[in-house]
Amino acid sequence: MTCPLVYMHEDQVQALYRNFLQSQVNRFEAVAFGFDDGDVFHVYTSRPKTQLSGYPCTSAIHFLTTMPDGESGFAFATQIYNTMFSNGVSRSVKPSVIVLFAIQENVLRHRAFIRNLEGEFHEGIVKFIPEKSELYSRSKGLLETSVLEQCKIGVVGLGSGGSTVALELAKAGVGNFVLIDFDRLELENVARHICGTGDLGRYKTKAVRDLLYGKNPYIHVQTAELDINQNLEQTKLLLKDCDLIIAGTDNDRSRFNLNSIALEYNITTIFGRALTRACGGDVLRVRPHQGPCLGCVFTKDFLESRQEEVSQFRQSRSETPAYVPDEEVKATIQVGLASDILPISNMIVKLALVELSRGKVSGISSLEEDFVADFYLWANRRENTYASWQKMEYNFNSPSILRWYGANWERNLSCPVCGESHEPQINESEEDNIFAS
Ligand SMILES: [Zn+2]
Repeated sequence: MTCPLVYMHEDQVQALYRNFLQSQVNRFEAVAFGFDDGDVFHVYTSRPKTQLSGYPCTSAIHFLTTMPDGESGFAFATQIYNTMFSNGVSRSVKPSVIVLFAIQENVLRHRAFIRNLEGEFHEGIVKFIPEKSELYSRSKGLLETSVLEQCKIGVVGLGSGGSTVALELAKAGVGNFVLIDFDRLELENVARHICGTGDLGRYKTKAVRDLLYGKNPYIHVQTAELDINQNLEQTKLLLKDCDLIIAGTDNDRSRFNLNSIALEYNITTIFGRALTRACGGDVLRVRPHQGPCLGCVFTKDFLESRQEEVSQFRQSRSETPAYVPDEEVKATIQVGLASDILPISNMIVKLALVELSRGKVSGISSLEEDFVADFYLWANRRENTYASWQKMEYNFNSPSILRWYGANWERNLSCPVCGESHEPQINESEEDNIFAS
């Protein structure tokens, strides 16, 4: 049998050691989770920010002045186990992890012992999860992680698209997030969402936050469980000091609300959506007053020509007259696969990183010259909008699926939202169509 690995967070051990020096209490109860039949254990001394997994074990940590060598370590661990976890019952129903620490000649010594269900002790190897300086050394060079660490991103809408974008930006090194969504994770979401059945019933904001912390426990994540359409003023307060906003919501009313926030606070905002059955998608970067806003692009004709994917019952219900029964509404929900949504999320992530690194020296500077368009179309499958396109085969002279197309979409100076005329150019009935809820 290979030696089990026992992982601990460096900062938690340090805090415990300070506690030991001040209080002279040398024994602490901890929480451990085991994986893979006793192959790996994670020991926590305070509540972790991340999502927990694995099976629960009892655990204790003991500080000593000298580390017992050889067999005497086993005897010491057995003694700790017997005083702390043995309650007269012949054997515990949980494995137990005992970790011993000693500072000898300024060197931290450690030994870990695992008691299995049969009551046998095995020695494990202690590993430390480092503090942040070491966690993100991998992306150095390509992206200036210290720049991204200072950035604050607002992600509104944490469905399969928005949640993936948030996670990828955390992986890239973005240090601050505001996550806004009012939905809870339901069974029907799980197949396409980054969160799994272990998060059922939770607010998507909080479940996604824990995944982000799992990638980097040192980031800051603020969550708000609110509907932007019902709480516009609160949403504004949460987003106004963001460096960038990601609009991952699934309805045009919330998108237009985010567009107004972008224009009011001059924050670059990236909108993404999938078309029916994810046959394609589009991504719009709104750089307020420099390029087109949502109102310049999402005209009535445009929205009719490129129909959005309806993936949620709530979304479908709101777009269907009240006399249509729920069962019929459910039948209208046609979704693409998560892998069909990924290219759209990925494009949003790339655009976001280009915007956040703009003007700074980074390994992705060349992309600034490529991403000159503000609006991008993704062709995924030859159906609906793309039904008449030629087969991809070996053809690269005509438009094909599985490609992005940058559209030269100028700002519309008579746009009803960002236009220079103060007179609204759109009549009431058209506006009602755009904001249909
Ligand atoms: Zn506009």
